[in-house]
Amino acid sequence: MSDKDDPEPPPSSPPPPPGTPDPEEITRRLSEFFKANFGEGGAFTVMPGFGKAPTSTESKADEGPAEAEKPGASFDGDILEFNYRPKEIKAHLDRFVIRQDEAKKVLSIAVCDHYNHARSLSRLEREDPERAAEIEYSKQNVIVVGPTGVGKTYLIKHIAEMIGVPFVKADATKFSETGYVGADVDDLVRELVRKADGDVNLAQYGIVYIDEIDKLATQGSSMGRDVSGRGVQTALLKLMEETEVALRSSNDIQGQMQAMFDMQRGKAPQSDRINTRHILFIVSGAFSGLEKVINQRLKTGAIGFGAEKREELLDAEMFHHVNTQDFVDFGFEAEFIGRLPVRVFCERLTASDFFEIMTRSEGSVIRQYEREFEAYGIQAKFEESALRIIAERAAGENTGARALMTVCERALRDFKFELPGSSISEITVGARLMEQKDEVLDYYRELGSRVDTQKVFSEMQLFCEDFANRHGVTMRFDRDVVDALAKRCSEEHMAPLALCRQLFKDYQFGLQLIQKNTDQSVFDLTPGAIEDPDRYLSDYLVASYRDRKPS
Ligand code: ADP
Repeated sequence: MSDKDDPEPPPSSPPPPPGTPDPEEITRRLSEFFKANFGEGGAFTVMPGFGKAPTSTESKADEGPAEAEKPGASFDGDILEFNYRPKEIKAHLDRFVIRQDEAKKVLSIAVCDHYNHARSLSRLEREDPERAAEIEYSKQNVIVVGPTGVGKTYLIKHIAEMIGVPFVKADATKFSETGYVGADVDDLVRELVRKADGDVNLAQYGIVYIDEIDKLATQGSSMGRDVSGRGVQTALLKLMEETEVALRSSNDIQGQMQAMFDMQRGKAPQSDRINTRHILFIVSGAFSGLEKVINQRLKTGAIGFGAEKREELLDAEMFHHVNTQDFVDFGFEAEFIGRLPVRVFCERLTASDFFEIMTRSEGSVIRQYEREFEAYGIQAKFEESALRIIAERAAGENTGARALMTVCERALRDFKFELPGSSISEITVGARLMEQKDEVLDYYRELGSRVDTQKVFSEMQLFCEDFANRHGVTMRFDRDVVDALAKRCSEEHMAPLALCRQLFKDYQFGLQLIQKNTDQSVFDLTPGAIEDPDRYLSDYLVASYRDRKPS
């Protein structure tokens, strides 16, 4: 399993036989052929990386916000290295995901059980293959129920990143039974291999996450699909259990061609199948209507709980009562639901949860806004009063935490457009901005067009202090220099601090050289340093060689 560490370099491939067109050329020709025979509709697309060696830079987890950390102690394809405990996984999730404690716990346990089993089986296969073949195990595939935007995907993405396995997400609605109309469920597994940069060994421990699984329910047209939903359930069932999936789908012309090229180039044929035994499947959906099914049963059942139970939204308490039959009544095949033994509920989030997300989650959308403003040299300060309003407004949107972005975007879009390039270097996002956006925008617009000398002075002073601390040389300036900087700020629509950073970007090298020559550690800037900083520094430097202290 760890043969990827083998120090032996792979034998270099012999060049393709003379006259063999390269993959790009073949793609071009095929493209023309398709167009000629099927018109523009017969488009021929090229998978990224086709004909090229796989790159190792591609992210192994689903694309995510920039805050996402690289997995630390990932097991990197060698399952024997898996060594996490449920509490560690939960603690990692706590850094990003607010609430959903039960879901975090259940998922952490399921993931540890799953990979611990894979680890012991892998060990046994090496030591005693016969005994390994006899081991029976029910896979801990998971079904996550919960409304949209409450962190279902976010949880799973962070788990996959933490343990270092590839992660693929898809919507169940994309699939059709045969793959002719929609995608083929086997594509999910092939996608895992692609996410693992072609490393089949790593891909076999990946996580496949399928959202909107409730749309495969077949009961009644209002709930979902018809027979084809059942067909997809059957196809998924096979994957979730254990099956071998061909690495190249039969209608993947490019894949077949790539294999042909590899053979021509003398590359040993790769194993062309992947076993799904150790792939963890997690499915999710909002399951609206499931509460009716549960209520119905509780009312008529013998539990005695239901008679007075009102029709209400599905919540954790009601989910506690869910059983396999409820899912079957909802429209799932019993075999299908039987392969998803771990069931977990994600709670609807409230305004106070949204506030927590903004203030505590490391992946908070507020950090993203701060970074976006910072890119223009503007420091955005979010006040608690604004965060409370954002949280309240988001709660009214009913799209879960995704609404935070919608609300922020609506409030801040114009500021992001108007302020970059003005002399504004700080913006306070408070209750006033949220409630009287247009007035506050006018205020900043006006302020941005005025260059306030006092502000220029204080920002320049800030810059010089920071410069002295970092580089051990002090830059001094007087009123004329401040005026020159103010003039450039208004000409170039830049904030003073950002302009200082730009003008004196490499000054430390020159000034330190002068310091070496003359022992001088304090430098008096002149307006010339603002107007033409390069010239100013080079004149100074030349003079310092003239005045060099005797060594
Ligand atoms: P879904 O439940 O529909 O899968 P996601 O997990 O994709 O929703 O959530 C969308 C985004 O909202 C996430 O990327 C994350 O930034 C934020 N988010 C959702 N739920 C939470 C939560 N409980 N804690 C922190 N952030 C969350």
